[in-house]
Amino acid sequence: MVRTRFAPSPTGYLHIGGLRTALYAYLFAKKNNGKFILRIEDTDQTREVKGAVDVIITALDKAGMKYDEGPIVGGDYGPYVQSERKQIYLDYAQKLLDSGDAYYCFCSKERLEELHKSGATKYDKHCLHISREEAEARIARGESYVIRQNIPESGSMTYHDEVFGDVTVDCKDLEDNILIKSDGMPTYNFANVIDDHLMGITHCIRGVEYLMSTPKYNLLYDALGWERPVYIHLQPIMRDATHKLSKRDGDAGFEDFLAKGFLPHAIVNYIALLGWNPKDNREKMSMQELIDSFSIEGLQKSSSIFDETKMRWLNSLYVKEMPLDEFHEAMKPFYDKYCPNKKVDYKYLSELLQPRVEVLSDVKDKAAFLDMFDMNADKPFDFELFNNKKWKTDVETMKLTIDDCIHVTEKYAGKEEFSEKLNAIAEAKGLKKGQLLWVYRIALTGAAATPGGGEEMVKLFGKGTALARLNKVKSAL
Ligand code: GLU
Repeated sequence: MVRTRFAPSPTGYLHIGGLRTALYAYLFAKKNNGKFILRIEDTDQTREVKGAVDVIITALDKAGMKYDEGPIVGGDYGPYVQSERKQIYLDYAQKLLDSGDAYYCFCSKERLEELHKSGATKYDKHCLHISREEAEARIARGESYVIRQNIPESGSMTYHDEVFGDVTVDCKDLEDNILIKSDGMPTYNFANVIDDHLMGITHCIRGVEYLMSTPKYNLLYDALGWERPVYIHLQPIMRDATHKLSKRDGDAGFEDFLAKGFLPHAIVNYIALLGWNPKDNREKMSMQELIDSFSIEGLQKSSSIFDETKMRWLNSLYVKEMPLDEFHEAMKPFYDKYCPNKKVDYKYLSELLQPRVEVLSDVKDKAAFLDMFDMNADKPFDFELFNNKKWKTDVETMKLTIDDCIHVTEKYAGKEEFSEKLNAIAEAKGLKKGQLLWVYRIALTGAAATPGGGEEMVKLFGKGTALARLNKVKSAL
């Protein structure tokens, strides 16, 4: 059975690239009726952030990727948090010490720095000659040590990657990496092998940064007599031709995009296509469609550039098809943030905005019109706004029609004949419809851009406010 895993380090943040790695592992598992496992790689305790595991679990949940085994839900291969598996790694490290595939190293930080300064590009196997007895005596005396992998000094190693093909690395380019650190914790280089094997991972899907160190992991599989998993390394997501998307630039977090008002599935859909394609140019795809079409052959060997404009477009498609109630619920935090406590019908505002926003935070600009009219000023807004070349209209049109506008609003607001009666004013005064509608809407809002025309604005603000505003304009004309 296919078993894949997502193995994030708990940094308190889920990078969009990490989410995509998780997604491909999820899609591949689901496509093959397999299992998708979440494993927390928290052996670097200096990087540990409180609550970070929750961030990951919540993100996967929002993204619609339900894991079959992992923290909280458990499973037959737990624990799924590496810091809880310390003894397991130590036991396997002992096996490697016994077989000569690993050795104790007592080199001080100073010696390693000296070595580095002298131009060495890797550890020089200085402690390899120390006998097991001597090493154990030094450990018993309380000396600090690490356990290193013993890598052959010559020869080369080849393995097959499903995306990159055959990858060959010279052993002389590989360092005797630390497997167990001085605090007794394993490094990634060790733990990933032990866990992938013990958790029955069949396909190892991860970032390309591990492509060249995989031969080292293979040596460990071989030393322990284990079968290697299938490897699938993924190219990073780039901000532009030369820079990766990075946390530092604030343009890479799943949560950051949610906060901007991207819908979780729109993000998932977009990143699925960054590095993989379904070969039939489809762009808008549900999770089930992604699962059904996913294949390793569709993975790209080249890196892809993140295009926020494209993701906005895809998001807008999902926004448009939401049921109004759901859209309105999703908008509430954005109303609270950008336009709280306005005297308008928010539900109706949602109806007006839904076809007009691409991401939910667009409300920041789209609802700016709510603040343009000032009842307390001598003039509620700049009357220059009445002048409009396209509609060939100006403040004179307003002067000519304001009494009729007030009358029609008073009598017909909210009724079916409203728009007909408004048009009739234009006709009676020898004006074009557009000339009147422009000034009418401006008089109600003081804004050049609004989601909808006069009729919608009366409905949004209510008849009382509409009349108060028209009368205010009249008195200031
Ligand atoms: N903890 C590793 C990382 O966050 C996981 C790499 C892997 O998937 O093997 O990069």
